[in-house]
Amino acid sequence: MNTVWVLGDQLNREGAALQHADPATTRVLFVVSTNFLGGRRWHRQRLHLVLSAMRRFVLTLEAEGFTVDWRIAPSLRAGLAAHIAQFDPPLVTVMEPMEAGFQRQLLAWPVSERVTKLQVVANNQFLCSAEEFAEWAQSRKSRLKMEDFYRFQRSRLNVLMSGREPEGGKWNFDDANREPPPKDGRSWPTPETVPLDEVDAEIDGILADHAPLADGKPWDGLWPVTRAQALARLERVVREVLPVFGPHEDAMLIGSWHLAHTVLSSSINIGLLHPGEVVQAAEGAYRSGAAPIASVEGFIRQIIGWREYVYGLSHLWGPEYLVENQLGANRPVPPAFTDGAATKMRCVSLTADGINDRAYAHHIQRLMVLGNLALLSGVNPAAMTGWMRERFIDGADWVMAPNVVGMALHADGGRMATKPYASGGAYISKMSNYCKGCAYDPKLRTGPKACPFTTLYWDFMDRNQERFKSNHRMSQPLAGLKRLSDLPQVRQRAEEVLRLLDSGDL
Ligand code: SF4
Repeated sequence: MNTVWVLGDQLNREGAALQHADPATTRVLFVVSTNFLGGRRWHRQRLHLVLSAMRRFVLTLEAEGFTVDWRIAPSLRAGLAAHIAQFDPPLVTVMEPMEAGFQRQLLAWPVSERVTKLQVVANNQFLCSAEEFAEWAQSRKSRLKMEDFYRFQRSRLNVLMSGREPEGGKWNFDDANREPPPKDGRSWPTPETVPLDEVDAEIDGILADHAPLADGKPWDGLWPVTRAQALARLERVVREVLPVFGPHEDAMLIGSWHLAHTVLSSSINIGLLHPGEVVQAAEGAYRSGAAPIASVEGFIRQIIGWREYVYGLSHLWGPEYLVENQLGANRPVPPAFTDGAATKMRCVSLTADGINDRAYAHHIQRLMVLGNLALLSGVNPAAMTGWMRERFIDGADWVMAPNVVGMALHADGGRMATKPYASGGAYISKMSNYCKGCAYDPKLRTGPKACPFTTLYWDFMDRNQERFKSNHRMSQPLAGLKRLSDLPQVRQRAEEVLRLLDSGDL
């Protein structure tokens, strides 16, 4: 019998290695690596998601008639070797891993001295493969802009198009999607949870035995772990969320951790949903009049634009990109990010509590609260990438590397983003209701009540003014820096802020 090896983020019957497999002639292999489970301080829910979804996919495949080899082994490689030693399959087929680094390792593995051949087939979990992205990148004369890639995707996939023109007359409705939080106390569509069962109890046992460092709140059934659950979430998103998705997608609101976010990323990232079907469902909502163009376009841009862009970049630039650190940032991840009680900064504390509760924060909390503070304070990019990969339900190197190293921390010298996403407390104050009731004041940059974001923003501009002076997009903040009459006091307060941040007393 041949073997198909299914990795933990490829949990779909239509995955390239599995789609034509016949239960009569194919054994399916799943390997759980105990080195992986025990090696880092993972969020418990992140591990539970992947293991539970793997285990339930095993049950689905067994119900279809497949023989499944479920192995708990020290590493993926050891699990594969043990499988080969036991079953001696002539051929093991696996779909390309999504991580560029793991893909390289896998292709270099000497699999066996036996007759087994390891066949790696192209990954079909994206609409634009790494090879297609590389071709697009090669055709570009200048910077690889997301907006250009997005338009390329819209045209070639014929998504939200009216002939050769974009539906609604323009490519991008972002200007309609930057509203601050509404003050009317409205309610937001709440994601469903699924009751726990015997599989969850089994996973708890595996984690108790093999993941001693895992922390965060226990699993409560919030994240889909089967294709049926993921499809149900997608159906609810189309019906209830998309109609209200767009305008407040950048807002942050105490009292609703999700607002109108779709919370589909974990399901897409482990293969329960294919981006193609998600986009088709969203476009259908627009075509039927159920959701407005601005909301649907904004959502589709996240899926076929941003998501596929970071996947393509992560393969184009490879694992070497993960160690970029052009701003020379070497601070560890501050205690405040993992423990909301380790800071009086309300925005950071609430975001950290949310991550602890559900392994999730939405994109603006990630970029403009955590990423922004990490940029301004100089957190090491590789440390920040590793931390985000551990703590987020949808974390993966291919997601985190471009988002953290390039977008949030500007550690690649501007290869990805033309300017750093740095901001003082004013942005958070405008886009959230966090600042009212915070121990700090977003308008102050000096003194004990000064907002740390505001102090560190000016200190960051001051420290990097030589580096940024030739970037015309930085001319406005640098001109503002020149007008500051209290720069010595800002520098002094910044030193104090950084000391308190490191000690968990800010
Ligand atoms: Fe965050 Fe500053 Fe606002 Fe406090 S005042 S919530 S630290 S932005």
